[in-house]
Amino acid sequence: MKYHDLSIQTQREAPNNARTEGFSFLVRAGYLTRENVPTQLGEYAINHLGELAKQHDESLFSHLSLPTITNDTEIFFPIKSGSVEVIHCPACKYAERLELARFAKSALPREEQLPLEKVLTPDCNTIESLANFLGVPKEKTAKALMCTRLSDNRFVFVVVRGDMQMSEAKLKKLVGDVRPATAEEISKSGAAAGYASPVGLKDVLIVVDDLIPQSQNLVAGANETGYHLKNTNYERDYQAEIVADLVQTQEGDGCPNCGKPFSVLSCINLSSTSFTNLATRREFHFENILLALAENYHDDKGLTLPKSAAPFDVYLMHIPGKEMDTHAKAEEIYNSLQSAGISVLFDDRDERAGVKFNDADLIGCPIRVTVGEKNLKEGMVELKLRSEKSSRQVSVIEIKSALGLDIL
Ligand SMILES: [Zn+2]
Repeated sequence: MKYHDLSIQTQREAPNNARTEGFSFLVRAGYLTRENVPTQLGEYAINHLGELAKQHDESLFSHLSLPTITNDTEIFFPIKSGSVEVIHCPACKYAERLELARFAKSALPREEQLPLEKVLTPDCNTIESLANFLGVPKEKTAKALMCTRLSDNRFVFVVVRGDMQMSEAKLKKLVGDVRPATAEEISKSGAAAGYASPVGLKDVLIVVDDLIPQSQNLVAGANETGYHLKNTNYERDYQAEIVADLVQTQEGDGCPNCGKPFSVLSCINLSSTSFTNLATRREFHFENILLALAENYHDDKGLTLPKSAAPFDVYLMHIPGKEMDTHAKAEEIYNSLQSAGISVLFDDRDERAGVKFNDADLIGCPIRVTVGEKNLKEGMVELKLRSEKSSRQVSVIEIKSALGLDIL
């Protein structure tokens, strides 16, 4: 491919909207516009990644030498501009989206079940006001959330411990899409907003967090405005159709597998997999993979893509000569390399050497081959690895075999 064919436009300055160095260098090297849209060069690189994905499928990321965070269905790359929050345990490698992450849950000490007691609790329609008024810790209360399932309009009554937050994503996974219940739906169910519990309710889908059956004597709503019930106990006072993990993990929680503290990382999603009885469907997000590569592989001059990931093996350039036609010689080498199956980006512009060297560093092909008058007089060209400072001369005749050698 020739430089002009891809209409490559490099930039001297980093874009001022760059949140990461990887993005900045993709814009400066002409893979992306400042608006994060792939250019022709970007599309070319993305297509190349698509070809690699066909060849390597599930081993794509190890082929690209890209460090990732994985679970059964998704592959993530941590980057500060990422919009997906992922829980990661460095000890056992547990990883999951924050809203779906499990965590080490601990039940309160077991107690003898005490008899139900209805108590007057005026103006206590929040967990905070209730806990304050009765002088009990929030974890000794039951928090109620009421919604309506979209698919069949069924009233869904959710109970979690008062010190925890329900995860909508976890609820959705269990029962399907829901919306908040209306005041009318709440009163029709027999519940009272702000003073609700599943005690005495009929014909509602009750879903409780798995800590609720392990918690005795919780304060819960009496389904009567201004009143609560002390000492509600799961099973004795109400039962649920679904008991499952329903709550959102919080700062300071431990890993569900090993108990060690986990970290929350901002990530981008590189791949998602869905499983059906018939097939495994793996989807790659190539624009994100390109960003991850740029983030992982750059120095202060530009991209440093490894051979396994670079869209071109070689950046070939000529330095316009005074006596010799270096362009024609470079063109000859270009054709010869291409026919040998080596992928080449040929910078055929009549620009100064310095400009081209800068662009070669920005674009980040693993090898640079420079055709200049001085070397050419001795039948040589200059060969430089992007990863090294020094260059060496190889003879024009031997260039193919030099590139064929495992020099990377
Ligand atoms: Zn762990």
